[in-house]
Amino acid sequence: MRVVTVIGNRPQFVKAAAVSVHLREEHDELLVHTGQHYDDELSGIFVRELDIPRPEVELGLGGGSNAAQTSAMLGALATVLEYHRPEAVLVYGDTNSTLAGGLAAAQSALPVAHVEAGMRSFDWSMPEELNRVLTDHLSSLLLCSSERAAEQLGQEAVRGHVEVVGDVMVDVALTVQPRARRRTEVLDRYQLASDRFLLATAHRPGNVDDPERLAMLVDVLTSAPDPLLLSLHPRTRDRLERQGLLARLSEAGSVTVTPPLGYLDFTTLLCHARAVLTDSGGVQKEAYLAGVRCLTLRDRTEWVETVATGWNTLIDLDRDALLDALERPAPAERPPLYGAGDAAARVVAALDRLAVGR
Ligand code: UDP
Repeated sequence: MRVVTVIGNRPQFVKAAAVSVHLREEHDELLVHTGQHYDDELSGIFVRELDIPRPEVELGLGGGSNAAQTSAMLGALATVLEYHRPEAVLVYGDTNSTLAGGLAAAQSALPVAHVEAGMRSFDWSMPEELNRVLTDHLSSLLLCSSERAAEQLGQEAVRGHVEVVGDVMVDVALTVQPRARRRTEVLDRYQLASDRFLLATAHRPGNVDDPERLAMLVDVLTSAPDPLLLSLHPRTRDRLERQGLLARLSEAGSVTVTPPLGYLDFTTLLCHARAVLTDSGGVQKEAYLAGVRCLTLRDRTEWVETVATGWNTLIDLDRDALLDALERPAPAERPPLYGAGDAAARVVAALDRLAVGR
């Protein structure tokens, strides 16, 4: 079967790293990179570090508003699909690249397979929520990370076939985390002691685009009781510079600001951190898998299972909630969530069945 896979941003490189290698064992894959993330530190480094096949098509369509970006991608992807005529289009997660890939395929009457289907934050102010819901309703094959996601799709009466395969990010994390646990170079580089520092990432529009929320974010990060390393996303750097807040971070003696890190260095820091502060979806899952407490800088999450097990606390941008959460001991139990690390193989098996059923 010929499959076009559409990727475009950092977490999608991680997801493709899990699936592409399996997919290419039996099928023809054409990897299309929309260019949604184009900086080397959010894009190229992942292709090199995670052995992702070099994308055959690079559209270079980063930047612009959500609407401008999605519509530019939609037109360009329709042309790619018209030319290559795949038998299925594979999309991941909840970005503009996901929605544009799904819609371009559906408009060309091609089956869409959506990996990470059925996730919901029920927060309609998040661009990701729109992308998820719309892509699910366009898809022929909805591949879920959890039973709960599949139940959600049942309630929404989606048109396509729903299957729980586990989470493909888990496959990558379970392979890389044992190696990361044995590494320490990146800790030495930033003079951090294992288990005595906090790792932070933040880039959701809801936290960084509104100046008031951004100032609250800076307050939370600078009031943490341990040394804190912030991997600074370019979007967040831009907003902090515009508001004159970057200096407040660097001047706080407890905060070290770094550019976005490669996956191996980031995973090493994650595995050695006392806790992680993040508004990222992927990092919430990865912290759970690593047995590291997660303090989520949002008031809700689509990864609800990590909260229900007590490993993830929704502190939003509340300093007191941060301190309270850090005081509490980590839970004793950490049941497996989101599969056993074989999700990529199950995605390919589901695509095989889609091919047979055609
Ligand atoms: N990540 C990374 N380096 C960093 C920060 C994050 O490699 O400096 C990885 C992280 O391990 C996870 C992914 O990037 O696999 C998450 O990406 P992001 O937060 O951009 O996306 P989200 O998960 O929120 O969609």
